[in-house]
Amino acid sequence: MSATLTFLGAVGTVTGSRFLLQVEDKRYLIDCGMFQGPAEVEQLNWQELPFSPHQLDAVLLTHAHLDHTGYLPKLVREGFRGPVYATDATCALLELLLPDSGHLQEEQAQYANKKGYSRHRPALPLYTAEEAVRSLSSLRSIAVDRSLALDKHFSVTMRRSGHILGAAILECVVHTDGRSRTVVFSGDLGRFDQEMMKPPALIASADYVVVESTYGDRRHPETSVDDELQEAVRDVVARRGVLVIPSFAVGRTQEVLYHLHKLQGMGRIPTIPIFVDSPMATDATEIYCKYGDDHNLAVDLLRDGDNCPLRCPDIHFVRSVEESKRLNELPGPAIIMSASGMCEGGRIVHHLKQRLPDSRNIVLFVGFQAQGTRGHLLVNGAKTVRIHGEEIPVRARISPIESLSAHGDKDDLLRWLSGFSRPPRGSFMVHGEPEARSAFAAEVKKRLGWRVETPEYLEEVSLR
Ligand code: ZN
Repeated sequence: MSATLTFLGAVGTVTGSRFLLQVEDKRYLIDCGMFQGPAEVEQLNWQELPFSPHQLDAVLLTHAHLDHTGYLPKLVREGFRGPVYATDATCALLELLLPDSGHLQEEQAQYANKKGYSRHRPALPLYTAEEAVRSLSSLRSIAVDRSLALDKHFSVTMRRSGHILGAAILECVVHTDGRSRTVVFSGDLGRFDQEMMKPPALIASADYVVVESTYGDRRHPETSVDDELQEAVRDVVARRGVLVIPSFAVGRTQEVLYHLHKLQGMGRIPTIPIFVDSPMATDATEIYCKYGDDHNLAVDLLRDGDNCPLRCPDIHFVRSVEESKRLNELPGPAIIMSASGMCEGGRIVHHLKQRLPDSRNIVLFVGFQAQGTRGHLLVNGAKTVRIHGEEIPVRARISPIESLSAHGDKDDLLRWLSGFSRPPRGSFMVHGEPEARSAFAAEVKKRLGWRVETPEYLEEVSLR
């Protein structure tokens, strides 16, 4: 068999994206994701790979999110010595995300050892921050829309996917047995008709398509982000309170900043102080400003600091812990954005402890809240939440904005698939919970008449 594809993750789950493409005697890993979520899913991070890392020739990454990249430091520690290809912006974001992930792994292992709840004794981090930093030297940035031949049998072109900064669709061409086949990996697809990010690139033809299906059974609500944000800001100004926004540092924070800047520019909300209290969000915002090609924000404006569409007039990027603590005394009206987005850790926890008991304040959720997280409890109307061992009363107004998502919905996914001029020989649905994935598979069969498969973990298919 001269070309095969093996599914090593993101099948029946939305994490652990890893696909092994074998072409003749070469092995390429498409994405190198970490499994995230419940213990039984995270356990898969410890399972041995069906190949030895030093036999791998290269890794290709679609985008910086850890569920697509977070396994890389472990792969390098276990002997992988080849190059890791990704776009410029993805490489820049990984310099923030991977070391941070290493820190978190170390913290979690320490905590598990202290509490004695791990199945492993002693609990070990998947990798350390130092190992994560070491893995960064494998990164090789490649230009978007330019074909790169890695070998006489294999070349790849990265196309813009519109999901987060630097995110790419991989268009791979495999040459074996005297003919070529195109294999397209969607990565995570963004939305069409977005304001800030460019839409996913359409691809004319492919023999095989591997497509994500996160929102394969759903449509995003049609409510307007601007209207919801305007209402929350105006309300907090009237109450003279503080608007606390728990937000993921990479992507979501920048999107919210863009909308706040726009609303202020239109006079729809007043200019009030905005504090971005997260060193990672601050660094990520600089990267968003530096790499202008993926978004619709005018690049010349980005270079001109004061007019940058991510910099509101009264914005403050907070780095030091002391400065962060001083925000406890901050009078309203003001906005504090901080991570983590689901309120499980990071500086947001201190802000919640400070601001939740006061009915003048508003906590605005701008991202998905997984079950079992503090964010999920708050969104579902908890009257108190436990923070640092104390029961904190919830008197602030809690409100979620549901219309912000970095993933395309069912209609976006179908629209992207409709861009192929003819049905491929085969398509594989990945990166979706079981219901979303099978609903989307049925929809693609019915609406587009494609041959569709929903592969299992470790399944290998031949690309004939
Ligand atoms: Zn993603």
